[in-house]
Amino acid sequence: MTSSVIQPPAMLGMLGGGQLGRFFVIAAHEMGYKVTVLDPDQNSPAGMIADVHLCAAYDDAAALKTMAETCQAISTEFENVPAETLATLAKSTVVHPSADAVAIAQHRVKEKTFFKEAGLPVGPFVPVMTESDLPADGEMYPAVLKVARFGYDGKGQARVASREQAVAAFQDFKQEVCVLEKMLPLDLEVSVVLARDAHGHIAAFPTAENSHLNGILDVSIAPARCSEVIKANAQELAKKLATKLNYVGVLGVEFFVVGNQLLVNEIAPRPHNSGHYTIDACVTNQFEQQVRVITGQALGSPRLHSDAVMVNILGDSWLYSGKQVEPAWDKAFAHGNLKMHLYGKHEPRKGRKMGHFTVIGDDAQAVLNAAKVARSELH
Ligand code: ADP
Ligand code: MG
Repeated sequence: MTSSVIQPPAMLGMLGGGQLGRFFVIAAHEMGYKVTVLDPDQNSPAGMIADVHLCAAYDDAAALKTMAETCQAISTEFENVPAETLATLAKSTVVHPSADAVAIAQHRVKEKTFFKEAGLPVGPFVPVMTESDLPADGEMYPAVLKVARFGYDGKGQARVASREQAVAAFQDFKQEVCVLEKMLPLDLEVSVVLARDAHGHIAAFPTAENSHLNGILDVSIAPARCSEVIKANAQELAKKLATKLNYVGVLGVEFFVVGNQLLVNEIAPRPHNSGHYTIDACVTNQFEQQVRVITGQALGSPRLHSDAVMVNILGDSWLYSGKQVEPAWDKAFAHGNLKMHLYGKHEPRKGRKMGHFTVIGDDAQAVLNAAKVARSELH
């Protein structure tokens, strides 16, 4: 369904109650909207601060009926929400992004095939439905075997040096549909988060530079420290991708930089961890942009007003020598240009995203140094 502009204090719907949903609730509240969150977890970060928390599964018919009847526009923070859920809701209310776009983003084979068909640069890959699809030893190896669905933060991935290892990894993944990607000699990883509205207007945030630790995003630096050509090229490719996908909503696009070549890695049909710096360093942040898009309001300015370095805080920061120790928050707060964001999760687990902080300023090197000091002081 399409509609004209939805004004505050309308009720909006969010599928998923994680930290991305929580920031959406915060942005919506600031703008005068109310939010209903659907998430099966009683203690979900977004559910705890929503106006209404429907504590039910993403395909619960009664919960979806309530959402369709009470929410004037709905979005998602979680790409693994069943595409059918979005399609069902879209019959009776405004839903962005579309079920079709989410179905592509949640399946690595469909995603990579879409990139290729859209003429976007992508590294060598082979869809793997059965063992016989795994290529013979040769130029595809070393490679990464990734399950097509439900992988995130490096989960559901195996690095393989030969066909024999690929076969073993495919067995480990219970022969689920996979994609085999040639291992690329990455020089850098960058990303672009953008918002595209129903009229095709696009507001893209600056290209950010990302580093990962154990497959999980660790630090994002904005603007990225690479050539202006690469940064501009990433902006253009992200916009082209969103347009070809006929995408409406906030989209995260991850890229690999290999030499002077830029390759699309994957997309997220929602705000992205690498866009968290926008909360403190841009005129409009990625979550406000999500509210603006789904309500049909004009897009806000994505202008970066400060250099920014965002550092993820994982559950690991609590866990030392077998004991649980609270990080030294006062040391972080002692940095006047540091903005702390904790997500209200109760249980710090290894690899679990508990919060992040962003250091802002007008001297990129000083910002990076302060972020490094603040992170080392946490424990
Ligand atoms: P997800 O973020 O969903 O876990 P990605 O496909 O983005 O999955 O992979 C996670 C990280 O693993 C990437 O950010 C990159 O650092 C590394 N990686 C993934 N695929 C490749 C590849 N083909 N070559 C080199 N590094 C890769
Ligand atoms: Mg990724």
